[in-house]
Amino acid sequence: MKFEKKSDDSIVPGFMFGLVILGPAAGKLKYTLLDKQDITLLQNYILEAYVDVDRNGEGACVFALAYDIKRGKDAGRYIQDILWEKHYGGIAPGFKVAHRNGITVDNRLENLTLQPKENSHFRASTLKDPEHSLYWSAVVEMPHEAEPLYMKLFTAHEEISLLKEERYFECHYPPCTRIEQRPQEFHICSLCHITRYCSATCQSLDWSWHEPICLQRPRPLNIQGHLDR
Ligand SMILES: [Zn+2]
Ligand SMILES: [Zn+2]
Repeated sequence: MKFEKKSDDSIVPGFMFGLVILGPAAGKLKYTLLDKQDITLLQNYILEAYVDVDRNGEGACVFALAYDIKRGKDAGRYIQDILWEKHYGGIAPGFKVAHRNGITVDNRLENLTLQPKENSHFRASTLKDPEHSLYWSAVVEMPHEAEPLYMKLFTAHEEISLLKEERYFECHYPPCTRIEQRPQEFHICSLCHITRYCSATCQSLDWSWHEPICLQRPRPLNIQGHLDR
């Protein structure tokens, strides 16, 4: 993928990034952004999306979890930890790898930093204009068919029961990474009563992507009273 320099972002002209599909989490299909030089990690690791829920109920974050292909699902680690070790040798004791811009799936090296563990708490993305982030520009370029194709792996009922297990939803508009800080914080799609959005703007921008999935879903007559607010 190649990006043009935009006014207020730190995009290096001509530099290449990779956007990797992580699979579904927090009610949507998630991606992670990696530097081109780190794409080779995919030879040794399988990446999946993982929702880390704060123990004290202070919200949730979506991270990219990497499984060593040789060791299987017992050996999952956050990709940001693996990247930090690869480039800097190790993580200093008492510190953890954090994402500078608050987008926890933006794993470009320049977005990673060390933070004392005791100060680490979940927080919403600190970006004032997430629309101008490189992550947003990358995901908005993704083919609109990606999610419908992915969701075809499930029947509508399987997909809905998967979604009902989610406690925290991220805004469904793919480039937006705002995530609920408390369960059922966001607006819900009035047709399927499942998909959630941080704002009316994201909902209308997402409609062309969401429509084919939404229209296939069984109409939620029996769960309407439960989910409608
Ligand atoms: Zn819907
Ligand atoms: Zn949103």
